[in-house]
Amino acid sequence: MKRTTKLLTMTLAAVVTACTLTACGGSSKGDAITFGTNAEFPPFEYVTSNGAIGEYDGIDMAIAKQIAEDNGMTAAVENMEFDSLLVALQNGQIDAVIAGMTATDERRETVDFSTPYYTATQVMIVKEDSDITSAADMADKKICVIQGYTGEVCVQDMGYTYEAFKKGTEAVMELTNGKCDVVVIDSATAQKYVSDNEGLKIVEDPSAFASEEYAIAVQKGNTELLDKINKTIDKMLADGTINELAVKYTEEATAE
Ligand code: GLN
Repeated sequence: MKRTTKLLTMTLAAVVTACTLTACGGSSKGDAITFGTNAEFPPFEYVTSNGAIGEYDGIDMAIAKQIAEDNGMTAAVENMEFDSLLVALQNGQIDAVIAGMTATDERRETVDFSTPYYTATQVMIVKEDSDITSAADMADKKICVIQGYTGEVCVQDMGYTYEAFKKGTEAVMELTNGKCDVVVIDSATAQKYVSDNEGLKIVEDPSAFASEEYAIAVQKGNTELLDKINKTIDKMLADGTINELAVKYTEEATAE
């Protein structure tokens, strides 16, 4: 009798321990992957009333949610300036960056990138009556970019002077108010701004702007998280989910 009680106690203890270790009973909800983003980049990330992750919605947010779900975790978002994202990642304030971020060689020096999930390019947003038809035409124009974006690097490399803004909306407002002649920004986001604002158009110049690949950044050497991220991205690319998300959020963004 005594022996049976002892065994039972031991078994119970083992069950309790196992539950704590494997997070039975839903306590895994406490495990979150914290994604850093800059929710100023529709259709990839923006603030809305009822988003994929809390108040955050967009293609990237849907991908982040899926990565967390595939690993029995929840996705948390820290919204910050684009410029601060890689520093926050290195400090460990966030686990990963998902922000329509182009995987550039310069950034690869400090972080590791996932499999690319979207291809974009820089384009020029101008007024409908603008005479700008190529990147070279920007030479004597007032150019606006967004601070820290690859668009800023492109314009810098072309040797042009420019003004840098913290947000895409601010740069576009400068253009609509006639205070600048052209905004250089990523293609999908440019489309969104052009459909939201009267009198603007997009000018492309593929010979001047190379294509860019968006990827998720993790701390250098964090292969454990990178493997999880890549598994989900590979799956979402193969089954067409990312394509569907791109269509859905581009339509949603332009329908507003
Ligand atoms: N793709 C651009 C970059 O990586 C812009 C990204 C963004 O603004 N979220 O710099």
